[in-house]
Amino acid sequence: MKTRKVFSALMLILTCTASFNFAASAALSKNEKAIAQKKEVETKAGGAKNAIEAKVDNQAKNRSDSYWKKKLDPKVYEVTRCSATEAPFTGKYWDNHKPGEYKCSNCGELLFDSRDKFDSGSGWPSFSKPTGASVDKKVDKSHGMVRDEVICKNCGAHLGHVFNDGPTATGMRYCINSASLDFDEDKSRKK
Ligand SMILES: [Zn+2]
Repeated sequence: MKTRKVFSALMLILTCTASFNFAASAALSKNEKAIAQKKEVETKAGGAKNAIEAKVDNQAKNRSDSYWKKKLDPKVYEVTRCSATEAPFTGKYWDNHKPGEYKCSNCGELLFDSRDKFDSGSGWPSFSKPTGASVDKKVDKSHGMVRDEVICKNCGAHLGHVFNDGPTATGMRYCINSASLDFDEDKSRKK
């Protein structure tokens, strides 16, 4: 009788251990699968950095106004699609001093880098030059002035204006609305 009880207890322990091991291995294989899939995505895109760049909307040029109106926050829509200007000292990035990259808030295209950002005292994020070739210029004759408007080349979003009174070596001041930007902090950098 005693032997049978011990045997039953032993069997119970063995069964529990076996199902625990099974569950653990199932969880592990699920996890491994996820890692393998992630690796595949990264390899296809050519590494982690490109995986981020792959988020750029390549169809952005062909998107309709109703698409943007539905997708964007009303304030962002007003600035980027109707060329409104946010009030100075109100945007989220005019006083941002963190290192990183500024991307288009509409399509994800890389536009500016924190290394080129300077404090202009204007209350808008200001840069001495764009990063890459994704910032385009066009003449803006609104409000009785002639200014150079800057837009995102990839999606046509209004970004702000560029002036030739910049204090740095480029002589340029890209005066940009925070609403047109999305900031990607790079903690591995100092500036
Ligand atoms: Zn864009």
